[in-house]
Amino acid sequence: MHSDPVKASLTDEQLIRIRSQFGGLQHHHEGRPLVYLDNAATTQKPSVVIDAITHHWRQHNANVHRGSHLLSRIATSAFEAARETVASYIGSQSAEQLVWTRGTTEAINLVASGLTDRLNAGDEILLATTEHHANIVPWQLLAERTGASIQVIPCDKHGQLDMTMFHQLLSDKTKLLAIGHASNALGAVHPIKHMITAAKALGAITLVDGAQGAAHLPVDVVDLDCDFYAFSAHKMFGPTGIGALYGKVEALASLPPWQGGGEMIEHVSFAGTRFQPPPFRFEAGTPNIEGAIGFAAAIEFINKLPEGWRTHEQQLRRRAYHGLSKLPGICLYGPSEETNDVVSLVSFTHDSVHSKDIGALLDQQNIAVRVGHHCAMPLMDSLGIHGTVRASFTVYNTLDEVDRFVAAIAQIIQEQT
Ligand code: PLP
Repeated sequence: MHSDPVKASLTDEQLIRIRSQFGGLQHHHEGRPLVYLDNAATTQKPSVVIDAITHHWRQHNANVHRGSHLLSRIATSAFEAARETVASYIGSQSAEQLVWTRGTTEAINLVASGLTDRLNAGDEILLATTEHHANIVPWQLLAERTGASIQVIPCDKHGQLDMTMFHQLLSDKTKLLAIGHASNALGAVHPIKHMITAAKALGAITLVDGAQGAAHLPVDVVDLDCDFYAFSAHKMFGPTGIGALYGKVEALASLPPWQGGGEMIEHVSFAGTRFQPPPFRFEAGTPNIEGAIGFAAAIEFINKLPEGWRTHEQQLRRRAYHGLSKLPGICLYGPSEETNDVVSLVSFTHDSVHSKDIGALLDQQNIAVRVGHHCAMPLMDSLGIHGTVRASFTVYNTLDEVDRFVAAIAQIIQEQT
């Protein structure tokens, strides 16, 4: 039985209106309409985002923060208003706690770089098996620089973390807990609030990789009490090349600059340079102005979505999971059909048809999924597989698309086995 049958989802009219904003969904190939189920990799962009960027370029393109002319002042206020919009979406108390980055990856690297002088041999960095490479490799590089070691919380095939092991691994040696809000490969939402509280009690710094979380779940960084939260615009209807790092005031203030150049300084002389306070201290060079404006437009788009959009996403996932679970030879990974502690995706293998073949055959039908390790090789190793087929959904997908996807998989299995 589904646990939230009473919650309202989207009406057909609402869904049609949402879909009409996404020109990318109109794509056809050889008469077949696109079924875009690769949203965990990147989403399509609504016209409000495209319009916000082109409006900026057409109407008030100028560099920010240093111009003494009108266009620059307009561009600066749009750019800083964008910071406010994105910061408030995740519950940040102030816009100054939000640093623009190129995305989640750069945000995590920024923190890893800044912790170089704070970690030492014997210190431990605690991660989960489910992490994306973006939340592994920067810490490996930090560990190499400092002599710290990495400890890994195991998980099962449903993506559930072994919380007994988490508590065993957590100790006063743990200097950092870096944890994904939700697994991009399996969809599991991790109990991050509980984990952050436990890590903070032992004095660890806490960072959440919110690349998938921010795109699907309500986020309140004050309630989570994390030191850092990293996320990317392009997974939530915004442009590529822009993302953000939220930090607590004292957590950001404790990080040294990581890239030098214009914008991040207060005063430069050959005798020495004084740096700006956060967030500007971490934003060397001309920023991605149109990206920030596009990101804010994406957030405003999300803010205006009808109330039932998250329920709709859960329904899409349930329908896909249920349909696939009835097919012969399918092995589903990730949380079970009933749970809501999952972002909207299904991840599976077939016992005799290779995932790559499934991906290619779906592509022939213009159904876009992702196949492979999903930048989570350690997770795949722990599951004893090379990769999965992942279909990831978002608000604009329809139950009809899910049915077409499941029917296509059924046909592939029938023809290939
Ligand atoms: N973390 C997770 C969980 C992700 O899903 C991704 C992207 O797939 C990343 C980090 C990296 O995000 P980006 O490539 O936008 O920096």
